[in-house]
Amino acid sequence: MPTAPRPPHEAHADRRTASRAAFERARAAIPGGVNSPARAFGGVGGEPIFFASARGQHLTDIDGNTYLDYIGSWGPMILGHRHPRVIAAIETALQTGTSYGAPTEAESRLAELIIGAVPSIEKVRMVSSGTEATMSAVRLARGFTGRDKLIKFAGNYHGHADSLLVAAGSSAATLGVPNSPGVTAGTAQDTIVLEYNDPEQLEAAFCTGGDTIAAVIMEPVVGNMGLVVPTQEFLDAARRLTHTHGALLVFDEVMTGFRLSLGGAQQILGVTPDLTTLGKIVGGGLPLGAYGGRRDVLNHVLPAGKVFQAGTLSGNPLAVAAGTATLEELREHSPYAQLERHGALLEQGFRAAAAKAGVPVWVARVGSMMTMFFQRGSQPVPVTGWKTASQSDTDRYGRFFWGMIDRGIYLPCSQYEALFFSSMHTDADIEATVKAAEDVLGEIAAV
Ligand SMILES: *Cc1c(COP(=O)(O)O)cnc(C)c1O
Repeated sequence: MPTAPRPPHEAHADRRTASRAAFERARAAIPGGVNSPARAFGGVGGEPIFFASARGQHLTDIDGNTYLDYIGSWGPMILGHRHPRVIAAIETALQTGTSYGAPTEAESRLAELIIGAVPSIEKVRMVSSGTEATMSAVRLARGFTGRDKLIKFAGNYHGHADSLLVAAGSSAATLGVPNSPGVTAGTAQDTIVLEYNDPEQLEAAFCTGGDTIAAVIMEPVVGNMGLVVPTQEFLDAARRLTHTHGALLVFDEVMTGFRLSLGGAQQILGVTPDLTTLGKIVGGGLPLGAYGGRRDVLNHVLPAGKVFQAGTLSGNPLAVAAGTATLEELREHSPYAQLERHGALLEQGFRAAAAKAGVPVWVARVGSMMTMFFQRGSQPVPVTGWKTASQSDTDRYGRFFWGMIDRGIYLPCSQYEALFFSSMHTDADIEATVKAAEDVLGEIAAV
């Protein structure tokens, strides 16, 4: 009798026995065994790998396997793990005090660095996560305009605040819970969800309810349904319509900020939003977020104005030290030309490997963010929004993921997350990754 092929995650599972035991223990104490669902491997089948340490571009798991890291903690580690300058800054901060609940000069230094880097930011408030940044920016937009409605786009993820957890990307997309239980109908009612890259739909929404819309929030380059690139027409429509109707344009650059350039996506796209949210890289691997933008808008935040927003650990000295060291390093030793060169090599390599294997894959990339969308048709089809992204062949992605794991390459554990690489990745790393992809795609084609 023919035996069924083994599920891809069971190949070489004996190399991950410690991770398996750790997951069993974690599941008893932590919901689903993880503190954030993106880590749970739900999108690829199998069980998460537990890590013991990281350095540069490499991760080491608790079984002693090492991997070339293409997640970088989902974006923050653009300088690689344990960058000496970042570690030194944290160590110095450790020796002076870890939290005061009172202002420090270091916070002004970081604020000035952010203002100097991001074109649209004239003033900035620090918080402790990307979720807090977007939630606060939305409240500020509503408080500033005196309006309730918010437009967001399907497949864009803006953290887990209630009004933003509607048709969200990232693990919400992976797990198929576009609307979480616990988000009230009343809250969801004030959020209008439109298709990304559809300027006509956006125009129609402003035509019918323009004077009720407080803000349009968007990822200026989407990373959270896999990578999706905006059209100039769509960006121009968003800027023009918000301006005309007195709404604010909010760029959620939690992922793209300091990643696509020092000034984020807005710098390379040439579009100036009213508000920008930051997270991930801005904290250099520690919990820190920020929201900033037009001075007249930011002056509405308490205690300068009346819109309430606060945080016991906001501007935490350790996080500020790590973030400041990261931004200074990016400013003084710009990695962006190298990241672009490596990105182009990866993109071309993956595309050629997929074509050679005859596996239909749409490869999307901007700088050091990239996604390979596995598809079902005979020819790759452009992915422009959630409608096209959600057609992906996630089973094939899962096979690809595990094949790459077996070759020591740690990719995102979901079709609907972008990969990231760091300034520490070398030419040889990129070449080895392309070679591994060729092998795995060849195997997939043979199944
Ligand atoms: C990660 C992310 C968030 C949420 O940030 P957290 O720090 O995880 O709360 C918000 N928006 C975007 C675009 C993100 O990628």
